[in-house]
Amino acid sequence: MGRFLASLALALAVAAPATAAPPDLSKMGAAELSAFLRSFPKGGELHNHLGGGIPAEDLLAWAVEDGLCVDAVELAIRPTCAGENLRPAADYQGNEALRSALIDSLTTRAPGFRGRSGHDQFFTAFGRRGMSPLRAGDGLAETLEGLARQNTFYAELMFTPQFVASRAVGARVGWKGDPAATKAALSAAGLEGLVPAARADADRVLNRAREVMKCDTQQARPGCQVTVRFLFQAMREGPPEQTMAQLQLGVATIAADNRFVGLQLVAPEDSFDATRYYDTHMRIVAELTDQGRRTPVALHAGEVTLKLVTPKSQSHRVRDAVFVAGARRIGHGVALPQETDADATAAEMARRGVLVEVQILSNQVILEVDPADHPYAWLRKKGVPVALSTDDSGITRTELSGDYVAAVRNGATYADLRTAARNAIAFSFLPGEGLWLDPNGYRRPVAACAGQVGAAEPKGACAAFVAGSEKAREQWRHERLLREFEARF
Ligand SMILES: [Zn+2]
Repeated sequence: MGRFLASLALALAVAAPATAAPPDLSKMGAAELSAFLRSFPKGGELHNHLGGGIPAEDLLAWAVEDGLCVDAVELAIRPTCAGENLRPAADYQGNEALRSALIDSLTTRAPGFRGRSGHDQFFTAFGRRGMSPLRAGDGLAETLEGLARQNTFYAELMFTPQFVASRAVGARVGWKGDPAATKAALSAAGLEGLVPAARADADRVLNRAREVMKCDTQQARPGCQVTVRFLFQAMREGPPEQTMAQLQLGVATIAADNRFVGLQLVAPEDSFDATRYYDTHMRIVAELTDQGRRTPVALHAGEVTLKLVTPKSQSHRVRDAVFVAGARRIGHGVALPQETDADATAAEMARRGVLVEVQILSNQVILEVDPADHPYAWLRKKGVPVALSTDDSGITRTELSGDYVAAVRNGATYADLRTAARNAIAFSFLPGEGLWLDPNGYRRPVAACAGQVGAAEPKGACAAFVAGSEKAREQWRHERLLREFEARF
């Protein structure tokens, strides 16, 4: 009997909601907040560019291993050592002054480096980082290890398979006057025949990452525990038929391979092509995805300010991404409050459950938006779901925990951060029914799991429910981690 009561008490302790008062983060000093949010389970990372997430030190180490060179004038890693001003990468690793200058060049850590704005230093850094596609798996491993170190186990990473081949089909076919006609012409030219090669790109990257992390061995690294899915990203530069070819290959690849879960459009949103073709790109996405109904879509939108684009150009970006293209998630959305009818757009996003992937630290560097002025607080007030993510942590030299700290500086409470972390799985593009009936609210779990959320293992009908849904499986794991974390206070 005693043992029965003890096990009953244990079961109740596991299943009962946390009763202690949540901590007041606004009263924590910088060190306390940093340590607290580092171990806080952050659910997932929904906005992370695989190429921009790698620290400069790793890029330099790989350049040395691969026998690459550094352009001594541009301070850029190059794939060849044939040409002027090129010195072996090893020279830079072994000399502190040279190494430091190269890290400055590959990141945004030195404000005003060579007179560039944060925006220009950030976007030009990609061309200097010498990120070889052959090292993408090493980069993925680094990213996953970083998330595991921060108690976070789901990643939806942006990845670009078959870039050259797909855009070549677009260049050959040309623009046929509208998205529907161009889509038919791209298919007739055999674009979808590239799907097996795109899947093979994913195989290579994932296999290499698992090899680096020693997965399936006794020495398996914690990063092996992170679930990875890819967003097929296309570049919003060049003629629209080339961007469309990438997106169309993405739609076909997502349909064929469940490791790919959605689309993204990338490149500086304020560039000449991104700006002049913005409307065309939205119509292309709408055509290819049936406004997001056939294929999940996340779009960078509103990652601009009036320093970068005209008021007219800024006035409709998020609105069109939602209403024209059918985006289910918006990357950044910083300029939404400056758009025409911003309140109505935000209200509709809240109604539809369109989430904003907020990147406070990236926006501070690239857009010069002070964290205290970031619209994260306004979005929450409007009922728009939000998640926190890093963008390109290898260039900005940040970590996901740092974005959570910045969110507190923007006024977020512990409850807000708990919602943001849960949103990072609930609004992922993982298939399956979610554990919660009220995403962004999190008061009502599905009936099968009522009273069980946070326990170590699901039981009965809940076990069957969780086993049958990829999304619910990740949510179950997160709730267990959250319960363990909250047991400390
Ligand atoms: Zn981004």
